[in-house]
Parts: sequence; C-alpha cells; structure tokens
Amino acid sequence: MTILPYTADLQHEWNAFVAQARQATFLFDRRFLDYHADRFTDASLLVYDDGQLVALFPANYDEAERTVWSHQGLTYGGLLTTPAATQTRVLRAMHEVMVYCRDVIGAHHLCYKAIPYIYSAQAAQEDLYALHRAGARLTSRGASTAVSHLHPLPMRTLRKRGMRKALSHGLTIAEAAANDRTTIDAYWQVLSDVLRSHHGVTPVHTADEMQLLMERFPDQIRLFVVRSADAVVAGVWVFDTPHVAHTQYIAASEEGRAQGALDLLLAHLCTERYADKAYVDFGISTERGGEYLNEGLIFQKEGFGGRTVCYDSYTVNLLSPRIDTMAENGSDAPVEIKEVKFLDIKAITNSFQPLLSQTISDVVEGGWYLLGSYNKRFEASFADYVGTRHCVLCGNGLDALRLILLAYRQLLGWQEGDEVIVPANTYIASILAIRQAGLTPVAVEPHPDTCLIGADACREAITSRTRAIMPVHLYGRICPDMDAIMALAHDHGLRVVEDAAQAHGALLRGRRAGALGDAAGFSFYPGKNLGALGDAGCVTTSDEALARMVRAIANYGSHQKYVHDYEGINSRTDELQAAVLSVKLPRLDHDNAHRRLMARRYIDGITHPDIILPSWPDDERENVWHIFPIRTPRRDALQRYLADAGVQTLIHYPIPPYRQQAMQGRLTGHFPITDQIHAQELSLPISPLITPQEVDHVITLINTFR
Ligand SMILES: *Cc1c(COP(=O)(O)O)cnc(C)c1O
Repeated sequence: MTILPYTADLQHEWNAFVAQARQATFLFDRRFLDYHADRFTDASLLVYDDGQLVALFPANYDEAERTVWSHQGLTYGGLLTTPAATQTRVLRAMHEVMVYCRDVIGAHHLCYKAIPYIYSAQAAQEDLYALHRAGARLTSRGASTAVSHLHPLPMRTLRKRGMRKALSHGLTIAEAAANDRTTIDAYWQVLSDVLRSHHGVTPVHTADEMQLLMERFPDQIRLFVVRSADAVVAGVWVFDTPHVAHTQYIAASEEGRAQGALDLLLAHLCTERYADKAYVDFGISTERGGEYLNEGLIFQKEGFGGRTVCYDSYTVNLLSPRIDTMAENGSDAPVEIKEVKFLDIKAITNSFQPLLSQTISDVVEGGWYLLGSYNKRFEASFADYVGTRHCVLCGNGLDALRLILLAYRQLLGWQEGDEVIVPANTYIASILAIRQAGLTPVAVEPHPDTCLIGADACREAITSRTRAIMPVHLYGRICPDMDAIMALAHDHGLRVVEDAAQAHGALLRGRRAGALGDAAGFSFYPGKNLGALGDAGCVTTSDEALARMVRAIANYGSHQKYVHDYEGINSRTDELQAAVLSVKLPRLDHDNAHRRLMARRYIDGITHPDIILPSWPDDERENVWHIFPIRTPRRDALQRYLADAGVQTLIHYPIPPYRQQAMQGRLTGHFPITDQIHAQELSLPISPLITPQEVDHVITLINTFR
C-alpha cells in the first residue's frame, strides 16, 4: 500500500471516492471539510493498493500537541473504505496510515473518533479492530440518542401532549431556505441565548458559516424552525445523510419551551419528515466525555423512543512498538523460529502499553514520588488479591523477608543467634535475610521430587533456639506440606515466614501463597511473575501488630514523623513502581494460566529418557511456574546444545548457598539432595508471552538431543 497526502488537485478523486464509500456522507466531501480549512492544518491521506484508491483518511494535525485528529471540525471521523473492503485490508490500511502519521508527519498520537455504525451502508467496524491491534485506548464515549425506525420504541404520552399543546398555541413548522437570512438570524439568536444561559458556551460555527454550508449542500443541510404568530421560538439544523437524519443545534426559547415547541418539532422529524430514514439521531445526551447523562436532554429524547448510539474517541500511542506489528498475521502463518529467549522482559513490558507509559507519566506529572496514593492503592489491592488483611510495600524481596524477621525480634524478643529453618536449595536471598536480621539460618534438605521442604525435615532441625520456619515456594510451586508445617510450628511455638518471591498467585486449597503462613515476603524484581520496572517488594500478613512494626522499621524505625522508636532501615517502593504494579496486577492470573498451559505442553511433549520432568500437582493451581525446571545428569551438555540452537536457558542455581564463599562457616551440614539438584537443574524458557510454537520448538530440540 502507498499513502499520498491530500492536495487540492486530488479533490475530484477524493469526492468521487466519498460518493461511493461505505460511509458515504457529505460530511467527508472536500467542500464540507475545507470550508473552515483556515482553522486547521490538513493532514488528510489517501491510501492506494496496487495503484487503486482503497481508503481515505480525513484528518488534521496539531503540531504543538503532536497529535493527528481524525475528526477536528466534524462530529465524527475515521477511515473511509469501499463497501468491498475486508478486515485484513482495513487492518493494513490503518497500519499504513499510522506509520505515515508517525514517520512522515512526525505525530506521537492519533485521536480517532470512529464513525458510528448507523452511518454506514454496512454494519461493520473493522477500523475498531485495527485500533485494538494498535493498542488504542478509549478516551471518551459520548452517547447519543437515536430513534431507530427499524426497532421502534413507543413515544411517551407526555411528548404527545406537548405536541398537542404546541398545536393548540398555533405554533407551526417551516423550513428556512438557504438565502432566508432573516429566519437564520432569528433562530441563531434563540440558539445563542440558550447556549449562553444554560451551558455557558457559544456555538462552534457562526451564522455566516451555517448559511454558507446550507448554500453548498441545500439537499443535505436543512434548517427547520417553529414559529409563533410573531417570532421564531425553536429550531434545529438537520444533516441529512443516506441512512440517518442527524440533528444539530437544537434549541427553543423560553416561550417555545413553555408551549411544547420542541415536542412538535422532534415529533415532526421522526414521524413525518424523516420517517423513511433508518435513524433520526438526536445527538449526544451525555456530559464530560460520556461521564454522565444530561438528565434534562435525555428525558425528552427518550420520550420519542430514542436508543443509545456511542460516539467513541480513541487515542493511539504512535510511538508504541505495537504499531509496527499490528498488521502481522497470527499463529497459523508458518514462522521460522530462530531463537527462544529465556524471558523477554521488554516484550512483556510492551504488552502493557500504552497504559503503562500513560500511568508513569501521570505519576511524574503528579509530583509525589514516595509513600503516596499509588502505594496505598497497590497495597490494598494486593492484600485483597492475596487474601491477607495487610500488605506493606518495601524496597525489594530481600528487605521484605528481613523486615519480617526484624519486626518479630522487636515484638517477640528473639535474641541474636536464634534460629530460622530454611531450605538448603533456596536462592541466597532467603538466607541473607535471616543473617541480616541477626539470626542463624539452619538449612534443611528439600524433597528430591518437588525440591520443596517438608514438615519431617523441619521437625528434625528444631532446637531450643528455633524461632521460625521459612518455607520457600521455589520455582512457583507452593510447598505442598504447608498444613503440616503450620501444625508443627504451632506445636513448637514457631512463626512461619513464607518466601513467596517466586509464587505470586499460586493457590493451595483455596488460599494463596502469602496468606498461608504468619507472614510472607514477595519480590517484584522485573523477572518475577509480577514484576516492577526496577526493584520492589512487599510483606503480606493478617497480623496487625506485625504489619505496623514492619512499616515502622522500613521507615527509619518511626511510626510518627521524626520520632524513632527502633533502629530502623529505609526500604520503600517508589510511587512509579507501585503504579506499574497496579497496571500489571490485573493480568497476573491470566499470565499464570498461560505459564501453566505452556508447562503442561513441555511435560506432555518432552520424551527424552535422560530428562526428569517436574511433577504436576494434583491441583494445577498450586504452581504458577515461575521457572520450568527440568533435571538431567547431562545438564551442561544439554545447555550448550540448546544455546547453539538459539534457546536461552538458565540454571537455578549453579552453586548452593552453603557452598558459596560468602557463607563459609555460616551454614553447616551435608546436603547431598541439594548438591544433586544444583548439579542437574536446567530452567527452560517460560513466560506469559512464550508461544506454543516456541515451546514446541524447544521440545523438538530436546527430544532430538543425542
Ligand atoms: C527473587 C527472590 C528473592 C529476593 O528478591 P529481590 O527483590 O531480588 O530482593 C528472595 N527469595 C527468592 C526465592 C527469590 O526468588
């Protein structure tokens, strides 16, 4: 497809296309579009396919705002196409138009006010689909009231009474000719008075412009007035389009109102003058971009049997990468997979656009960057999601765990060197949190099948100094033994602190990770199932005293500004990150469900005899598959083989914490199961965006590994 900007020498070609377009109305005739050209910078485009004109895009450009408007000066606007246009052609045309607006015009945004379906010869909305593919946001929704002659509703008695009253006062209806300036001026006066006194505005047009338009389009633009014996008391312009009679600038003077002039006028339009149209559109009956109904208007319009038709405006962020891919074909097109990323964080971020950038700029413009409304809102919604009474945001996942332990030390008087039981095969953060709270980590072996700790292993590790157990829902799976661990802790007076940093959204018998123990630490590191665009973390708990203490310690040990009760730390989530998390949280369950489907696909597909697959829980909701961990004695060779084929994998984790330099002499014991896990584990690509084709590609590679 190719795009040409509109120039005056294309006027004939443009108008000929409009006349046979699916959305043919005089509103898109150049003689209508151009009458106020001095007010706007024209950015109208013509779209050609194989040299054939296939679409028009009437538009204006606001350079200061870097915005292309599809409808400035119009009631609505959008892509005009032939009746034969298909969904794929409209998608491609919209794509070309957007790329042109971005690359040639230099626009950053496109505001698109779609043509309501009632104006089209065919009820079809391919352009709305294309807007969706471009990531457009609905920015306002005006609801007009239109009487449908195809699906009529009865007219209310009150309106009929008003009409009879008007007749009894001797009111009459007349059409004003385009050269009847006296009548035009008389009605313009009525209209201007009403707009000023009731709405505080002036008409967009001038009386001169309306007269000019009537002269140019005598068959399409008509003025009807209601007269009393000596004055014009009401009136309306009607835009007569092929399917719809659209009313513009309707008003009545005080006298006209009292005598039922509008009832007479509207009844005349609906039941006589335009009874052969599919619709009589009474225009928008909402205020503030569709926020609420204008009661006075709607009451009267509904009385004629009006129905709702939406006048929607969408905003497209032309800088979004979606613009480049919006017209690409879907999954049944054969694609050659050259590489599979372990986790494409950039693509995940982009999949939340344009809302994400919009929200970030809201925060930037709001001017409040720490401990503000975005923190509050996310804490409330995450607590609600997890099912705890409290959520306290903090700097990261390590801090979340450390804060819980520090808070318990204050509340329960735990001493330096008291012990916390933790799995030996966890990520080192769990153990660092314990050490940094002045406590002693006691590592226990996990179950070899699940890589998760059980109650039996914990029981054996309990001493007189044990104060807590920290189960880690590693790889995204909740420790299946949580109930037994809770019972064990209860028997010994221990606290259970979940490390839920890999298990956002996992569910065990109806309760989520983070709501199973006494408290839990979450990380929102970018790569987690719910990730920020930087560091963030939180504590969830239903223990009010603990939540208060965590909040105080995270805030320099202070409950009250400049009063410091404890030696606290500084650990907070930026408002920016809290806002990002609020945008992403609503999609977490959906993303986790996709991970689950992809995990199932790996498990069903991989048949190589040297590979041990992760087990599938009885209830699939127990695992959110943060990681898809396989095990094989030939791990390093398999990883090299996959890397050569363009498949990224990782090892979680290559060195167990107790063998790390940093832990020498600080974490003792023999851990053969842990050693074996660390020697054999390989994490395959899994993410909310990984495609079944990519997973199948990895499966085929693994099954043919020799
Ligand atoms: C990511 C992670 C953490 C630490 O989170 P950060 O936000 O990086 O500090 C703690 N425990 C486990 C199991 C993790 O995976």
